[in-house]
Amino acid sequence: MPDIIQLLPDNIANQIAAGEVIQRPASAVKELLENAVDAGADEIRLIINDAGKALVQVIDNGKGMSETDARMAFERHATSKIRNIDDLFRIKTMGFRGEALASIAAVAQVELKTKRAEDDAGIYLEIENSFVKVQEPVAMENGTSIAMKNLFFNVPARRNFLKSNTAELRHIVDEFIRVAMAFPEIFFSLSSNGQQVFHLEKGTLKQRIVQVLGTNYNARLVNVQEHTDYLNITGFVGKPETAKKTRGDQYFFVNNRFIKSAYLNHAVMNAFDEMIAKDSFPMYTLFIDLDPAQLDINVHPTKQEIKFEDEKIVYAFVQSAVKHALAQFSITPTLDFELDGSIQNLDAVSKPFTGDQQSTASSSSLFQTFTQKNQAHFIENKSELKHWRDFYEKDDMVLSQTQARAGSQFSQYAPKTVSDAPALTDALLQLHQSYIVVQNDNGYLLVNQQNAHERILYEKFINAVAGKPIATQQSLFPVSIDLSATDAVILLELLPDLQQLGYALEPFGNNSFVVQGTPADVMHGNEKTAIEKMLEQYKHFSNDLKFSKREKLMRSLALQQSIKGGTVLALKEMESLLQNLFACATPNSTPNGKPTYMTFKKDEMDKMFGR
Ligand code: ADP
Ligand code: MG
Repeated sequence: MPDIIQLLPDNIANQIAAGEVIQRPASAVKELLENAVDAGADEIRLIINDAGKALVQVIDNGKGMSETDARMAFERHATSKIRNIDDLFRIKTMGFRGEALASIAAVAQVELKTKRAEDDAGIYLEIENSFVKVQEPVAMENGTSIAMKNLFFNVPARRNFLKSNTAELRHIVDEFIRVAMAFPEIFFSLSSNGQQVFHLEKGTLKQRIVQVLGTNYNARLVNVQEHTDYLNITGFVGKPETAKKTRGDQYFFVNNRFIKSAYLNHAVMNAFDEMIAKDSFPMYTLFIDLDPAQLDINVHPTKQEIKFEDEKIVYAFVQSAVKHALAQFSITPTLDFELDGSIQNLDAVSKPFTGDQQSTASSSSLFQTFTQKNQAHFIENKSELKHWRDFYEKDDMVLSQTQARAGSQFSQYAPKTVSDAPALTDALLQLHQSYIVVQNDNGYLLVNQQNAHERILYEKFINAVAGKPIATQQSLFPVSIDLSATDAVILLELLPDLQQLGYALEPFGNNSFVVQGTPADVMHGNEKTAIEKMLEQYKHFSNDLKFSKREKLMRSLALQQSIKGGTVLALKEMESLLQNLFACATPNSTPNGKPTYMTFKKDEMDKMFGR
């Protein structure tokens, strides 16, 4: 028998490795933007065609590359950023794995132009399938331009996995915003199919937040500033009144690197505690800076997850820093609400603390937490931290259990028969403002009002999209809503379906929309909340691949518009609820498979009582 093991050629090995780093156009956007930042650029332009499937190009005015470096850059494990394993724990750059360009060159066609200040001419390279096809000098400004064309042209299976243009563009905008937020001192622009989407002038973090997330945060940001021996936390949280029904405007950066952390998110939510409604989400853009030795950023190929040496301490600091900031805000006069920009910059306004207020704040225990030496130990012993893992993990568990149940439950409540239908002649009884008790031929039904209503709405929506559009009631005073760029992209995608469901919305530029009309039964004045809640629900479903866009929309609206438990119902309302429920094709469960009612048989009751 001959030996059978062979080494893979470099281009194949790179293609395989690329799977980890470059999953979609947005991954290339992230890597190329980060390289431009690492190159010291202060102007970075991103150009996209066809949601990045045809072109992702990043042009920077950074330090450029020499001819040899330009070729080397595309080798796997080629990096100028670390030399040995110890460097990993003193990382100051965004990149260090030396994999991005090699991966991109393995799965796309790449055109590189780069020039250093000390060179007279730049160099132009064309690379395909990891091989350099063209190399020639080029006249250009200092800096680098990398164009990635036809992503996955040589891996059709991966290309087929890409989502719709709207979905891919949304990912790109997300990545763009994450980098742009972290570097307000750099100019960024994004254009897509020749249209400018973002043009972000250099400025302060505050200005960048307002540029990116919308002017409704203007004068509604609370500064977070805590400097300790162990770490620094800086940034902004939105004042409680800016909390939205949709998650999204929430950013953590650790040593300027965007990270996802449900755990730290929990710390911020905890700090807001009673100040916002339970189902709303505050804006935050927080920067946590600490000694790189306290971190392992190399736990994930795209570096969005990191490991803290001691995450409990970070949790405690984040929570206290936000609490502290909010406490200051609440004793700050609410002067700055309607003031215009020029007045706001006056010292007296921008520094609203009087000496008295300052000493009150500094004598608070929170403040002391931060000024005490060795506060790490101090915080670790705080009792509120002891059970963090309990509540944190419990939440997750409950969630996944309900999800698991939702799937299997459906069969149990599969359509029964009309014989369940109640007799509506008798008085109806509402229990706990959540349940309706009603008699039928065989016994009685206990109906959950919210679940029942969800089913009714869902079937109404199904009929609407099947050709019986729901009438729109024109608003007398159309309201406008400002969304984050990400939410705006989602909403844009949903407009035609929303129209069928009675919502007339028009894009108004700059991520805002005008609500021209809503279905008659959506209360006027509530349009904005209704849309925000719908989007939040929609995003909740959005990882669920088995549902179409429209299905997700209908389920979201049904959930969001349903009358909630705790609502008192008049007799008439209970009657029509029951009538509509039993007119449904599938009256006995919600679209997600929760029961809408339970039956209690008279036979059984008789037995129980020995009759
Ligand atoms: P990493 O960023 O992890 O080092 P990359 O594959 O992203 O790996 O890049 C490889 C190298 O190419 C970088 O270390 C850097 O020296 C060089 N490089 C990449 N992009 C640029 C750029 N826009 N300007 C200057 N040098 C760059
Ligand atoms: Mg890189």
